[in-house]
This record gives sequence, C-alpha cells and structure tokens, in this order.
Amino acid sequence: MNEFDLIRTFFASQGNVRDDVAVSIGDDAAVVSVPCGMQQVLTTDILVVGTHFLAEADPIGIGHKSLAVNLSDLAAMGAVPKWFTLNLSLPEVNASWLQGFCRGLFGLANQWNISLIGGDTVRGPLTIGIQAGGVVPTGKAMLRSGAKVGDRIYVTGTLGDAGVALLHQRGTLPLAAADLATVKSRLDSPIPRLSEGLALRDFASSCIDISDGLLSDLRHIASASTVGARIMVERLPVSTVYRRYFEQLGRWDTAITAGDDYELCFTIPERRKTDFEQLGAKWQCGATYIGDIETEPGVRVVDRLGVDHKPKTDGYEHFAAD
Ligand code: ADP
Ligand code: MG
Repeated sequence: MNEFDLIRTFFASQGNVRDDVAVSIGDDAAVVSVPCGMQQVLTTDILVVGTHFLAEADPIGIGHKSLAVNLSDLAAMGAVPKWFTLNLSLPEVNASWLQGFCRGLFGLANQWNISLIGGDTVRGPLTIGIQAGGVVPTGKAMLRSGAKVGDRIYVTGTLGDAGVALLHQRGTLPLAAADLATVKSRLDSPIPRLSEGLALRDFASSCIDISDGLLSDLRHIASASTVGARIMVERLPVSTVYRRYFEQLGRWDTAITAGDDYELCFTIPERRKTDFEQLGAKWQCGATYIGDIETEPGVRVVDRLGVDHKPKTDGYEHFAAD
C-alpha cells in the first residue's frame, strides 16, 4: 500500500463532512469558511511513542487521545471545535493498527461533528501530530491572563486519576483490576470538557486545561495574570479510587502534580460566583471551588490549619533534565 492508498483508505473516506469546508483532503491545502464576527482558534499537540504512550498501547486509545488533547486546548479557550489536520509518522503500514487508530480518532471527531481536512503522512518513528481549529465570537476567547485578585479558582471533574494509572503502568502502584480499569480509561481516553468550556465563556476570567498537573498549569495562569494563587488542599476533588490508595499516592501529591487529567482549571470573579455555581451544579463532571487568587506571586498549597503543603514532585516538564 503506498502513501496515497493509505490516505484514501484510512483518512479521506472517513468522518463527517462539514458544509463550512470548501476544500478538504486531496488538494495542496484545505479551505474553510469562518463565520462573520468569529475568530479562528488554532492549537496543535504532538504525541510520540515512548514519551506519551507505549508502542504496544491500544491504537483505539492512541487515536482518541491524540485528538482529545487538542480538543481540550480548544475547550480551555472556550472555542467550538470544527476541523483538524493529522500529521502521521508511521514505522510501517499496519492495517489493523490503523483501523484501531481510526476508530478512536473518528469516534471522538464524529461525537463533536468535526472534520479531518488534511495532513501529512511519512515513514518514521510512530508520532502523531494533530492541529485542531475552532471558532469563538471575536474577543471572547478565554485566556490565561485574565485572573484578578479575589477571583475564585475552580476545577472540573476529579484530579489525579490519570496519574494513578501512570503509577500503575510504571510498576510502582499495584491496583485492583476494577480500579485499574476506571483510572486507565481516564489516562487513555480523556474527555475534553468542550461544553463546559463553552459555557464558561460567560463567567470565567481565565482558564487553562490541566495537562501537566494542577500546580504547574495554575502557575501559568498566575504568571500570565501577574497574580498569585492559594489552593486549599482538602478541597481538591478526587475520585473514590484515588481515596482508596490515598496514602500510597502521597496523599494529595498525585492530584496536585500528576498530568494528563485534561480537566479545566478556571477563575470566576466573586460577583459571578452564585450564578456560576448554579450552572456548575448541573454539569455531570461537576465543578469544585479549590482556592482563591491573591496578590502574592506564585502558587501556594495550604491545608485547613494554614500549613504550607509542599508536594515532593512537580508537574511534568519535557526538558526538566536539560
Ligand atoms: P502535498 O505533497 O501537497 O503536501 P500530500 O501528498 O502530502 O500533499 O497529501 C495529499 C493530500 O492528502 C493533502 O490534501 C493532504 O492534506 C492529505 N493528507 C496527507 N496525509 C494525511 C493524513 N494523515 N490525514 C489526512 N489527510 C492527509
Ligand atoms: Mg505533504
């Protein structure tokens, strides 16, 4: 099978076709229409074998996750996702691997009615680069830089489950089979919080998705907004599985520092608190108040006695050892 057969078989014929796509796969570039009064929001993420997933990982999960991490970035901006491109480096043409990958990829794409409109395919170590595009009304994108002193800090869902699965994968935390299944799906098939991100546009002063760990990602909000943050550690939302292994997880440490959760962390001005909490209460994933924005730079984690809580590790950083 040559490059063009591969593109035709697996990518050009699949997925839904949006009517704002004028030119899709098959020309030198794609052409899309952006409605009047809207801005385009673009993001990209690379997943590399050995760094982001193991070579033997389930291709369905790899397909899902490579798109999900991009959609999570669009969610954090408050954008409606529309299109994506796919850059694939493959060591070989393995039809059953590609079928699985496409199942995961298009399963998620079709759920959000987004179209694959182009890409590039080369031979090389297994690497997946996706670029996703969406739209927001002009000037309405949620940024990291809008947090103000006095704003409340919230997160969606629960924190740390993907980290629990990773610890198991690395052989440092034995888990019961049912617990493993729960947390593994959080690691392999994260759910991008797109509808929550969209709704947050009317409330949040800043927003980020948690890919590298709460502490690390909240620091980005703090520094971009030139403010500081205080997290009340006992408020952090963790799952029942997490609670079962609480001591082995360094108590709150995994929830604070582990990446790959793809929940949203955002700030809400005090005066919008009541309206927002009414909305958040209706979300299936929930939204939890975890702390406050304050003047002093940096991010502090304190317990209920006001004692500083310093996690032993920090968030994930690719070039940490350089
Ligand atoms: P060019 O040489 O002009 O860059 P290519 O031969 O690389 O074009 O690709 C041919 C067409 O197939 C283009 O429209 C491109 O966007 C699309 N394409 C290539 N690889 C992929 C892929 N993995 N997924 C989706 N579309 C792809
Ligand atoms: Mg090309």
